[in-house]
Amino acid sequence: VAVDIGGTSIKAIALDRSGRVHRRIDVATPLARAGVFDLLGGVIEELQGALAVNGSRLARLGVASPGLVDAGAGVVRFASNLDWRDLELGRRLVERFGVETAVENDARAGALAEHAWAGGAGTGTGPGGRGAGDLAFIPVGTGVSAAFYVGGDLARGASDAAGEFGHLRAVAGGEACTCGNRGCVEVYTSAANILARYRRAGGQLASTPEIVDVIDTDPLARRVWDEAVDALALGLAALVTLLDPSRIVIGGGLSLAGATLLEPLRRRFAQEISWRALPPIHASALGSHSTLVGAALLHRPATDGEAQSLARHLGAQLRDLERATPA
Ligand SMILES: [Zn+2]
Repeated sequence: VAVDIGGTSIKAIALDRSGRVHRRIDVATPLARAGVFDLLGGVIEELQGALAVNGSRLARLGVASPGLVDAGAGVVRFASNLDWRDLELGRRLVERFGVETAVENDARAGALAEHAWAGGAGTGTGPGGRGAGDLAFIPVGTGVSAAFYVGGDLARGASDAAGEFGHLRAVAGGEACTCGNRGCVEVYTSAANILARYRRAGGQLASTPEIVDVIDTDPLARRVWDEAVDALALGLAALVTLLDPSRIVIGGGLSLAGATLLEPLRRRFAQEISWRALPPIHASALGSHSTLVGAALLHRPATDGEAQSLARHLGAQLRDLERATPA
């Protein structure tokens, strides 16, 4: 069973050894944060039941959580959206379900999936193969984050806090962020904040996709969108200047905007750094499913080839399931 605990919804799948998805669950994350762990347990139990119907049993759990995650210890150090502090998520799930359990930060799980999807270390555009697979993954959804491979390894930092990309400052003296600072990338670029800023300025639409649809005809939507793209481009410029990744993959719900996002983003990004060749920026082929696929990959297949085929197989099934039952 693989689980993606998001700020908006908990998504989970039961899959078998061949990678076939038997059941998918998508439930709203409770507003009463104390209920999140209980709901998580209930979701896993339901999927365990779905496996039992097919004559299978739960063998492994992979869970992606927002916040600072010590993957080695299976502990969520701090997840502000869920009010979790030093939660021994791995140990508690092992106690309850009695199976091997892996826990990872959601953005890093997503990067793991993107890396696997592309074939792992075998890909990349660095000269002579250098920097091969050093991708940077930027999921833009309810929040904005980043995870990146440096030298072929997923970077974690000294306190598991590498990749807090959403809290890079994009606008000096800008609007207030939940982190206590001002002008963070996330304030302008997250799907939730695009909607909130549009509505605060008098806009009437009810969702970010609706805003994306009208940017050519609604000046307010255009302004909010341009500010979102600007902040993201500034963040990417800082990231590329420091890390020099071979490519940038934009994921999460906002990546579904496709060329509407990528074309102005590439233009702004190129204006920010004119002195060097820039890595390509593309939208995730896994759409908003990267983290869930990554959660399934936490119990790492033996080879890059196996990881790649599992990532692609899961991605295709999740896309089909979404088409069959649109959100
Ligand atoms: Zn911030």
